[in-house]
Amino acid sequence: MATMTIAHRVQGFGPSIFAEINALARQHNAVNLSQGAPDFDAPAELVAATVAALQSGRTAQYAPSTGVPALRQAVAEHALRHYGQQVDPESEVLVVAGASLGIFYALLGLVDPGDEVVVFEPFFDTYVPDIEMAGGVPRYVPLRPPHWAFDPDELAAAFNNRTRAIIVNTPHNPTGKVFSQEELDMVATLCQRWGVVAITDEVYEHLLYDDAQHVRLATLPGMAERTLTLSSAGKTFSATGFKVGWCIAPAALLEGPKRIHEYSLYAVAHPLQEAVAAALRLPDRYYQDLRAFYHPRRDFLSQALLEAGLKLATPERMGAFYLIAAFSDLFEGDALDFARYLTGEVGVACIPATAFFSPQHRDIGRRLVRFTFCKRQETLQAAAARLAALGGRLRRA
Ligand code: PMP
Repeated sequence: MATMTIAHRVQGFGPSIFAEINALARQHNAVNLSQGAPDFDAPAELVAATVAALQSGRTAQYAPSTGVPALRQAVAEHALRHYGQQVDPESEVLVVAGASLGIFYALLGLVDPGDEVVVFEPFFDTYVPDIEMAGGVPRYVPLRPPHWAFDPDELAAAFNNRTRAIIVNTPHNPTGKVFSQEELDMVATLCQRWGVVAITDEVYEHLLYDDAQHVRLATLPGMAERTLTLSSAGKTFSATGFKVGWCIAPAALLEGPKRIHEYSLYAVAHPLQEAVAAALRLPDRYYQDLRAFYHPRRDFLSQALLEAGLKLATPERMGAFYLIAAFSDLFEGDALDFARYLTGEVGVACIPATAFFSPQHRDIGRRLVRFTFCKRQETLQAAAARLAALGGRLRRA
């Protein structure tokens, strides 16, 4: 029996939706707007710094477990430059193999069996399996379309004396929501009232649209001592394949995650750490250009989706590089049926929003799908041409 070969711990997880949609996209030669990975190269400065690190003759061996000094220093400088956040590079930074591993470390290192972890949903799909692997219990707080606000009473009701942590992802995947200062103040107040740790996933911190501002939860009053901030090179430097990320937290909070790291991966790829240190020090211009690069792509895909007859569920303040759209006027089935139809028959791959919800609130995503626009203009144009063939017509599942 197949289940005999799988530990109980992982039996409930099921295969990831990304594997299914990517396979279907390959089979049908679809334009793939499903996964948040650019189809263009990382910046030349990052590539050059990687080559230089490899050729230096100093990076073929293990890096120090907590991260190379240059990267820890660069992470601290970046936090000061962008958020006025004081970080001690010696004791308050842990380099991790991508923010997702950092979140896994944070949960395994801080959450005891039976502890509750508050999660907004929709959520990035690794959070809940990670909480469960730590023995924790997720408590869900829904964000609701069209603007993906949460109900403050629902948030307050999710906290109790078993709550150990809350995961806050801003800018948010899959909705693009950028949490406002006011919303983060509510989170901060509850964390302090209940003695809760905040784990923030800020991988899209530099991808912002219009006048959206990213607020780092750790910089709000009373939050520095109780926040673990995660980010990575993946989205900021269009280098998702590097899997270099970092966790910023007070030394005491970092101790648990550090031990998980020491007894699992131990150290992150040495040459890539040196290269990311150089990239983080790029001038402000780099970050402005990144925003200017994504802005027209967001507008172009929005237009293409609207013209095809989809309706956008756009947050008031927008970040990241995704659009969530409702297909109710076009198709009668649920989100998975529509994603399979669009990928297999129209030739544009997307992700059903239901993949980002727990069963408790899955209905919210039943008629929604997510598209990414972190793609070359030609890719987006090819997608738009295929979407136009939908012609706003209703199709039965
Ligand atoms: N968090 C969120 C919200 C993401 O969307 C992603 C990538 N899709 C990650 C974490 C993964 O980051 P990394 O590649 O640095 O592990």
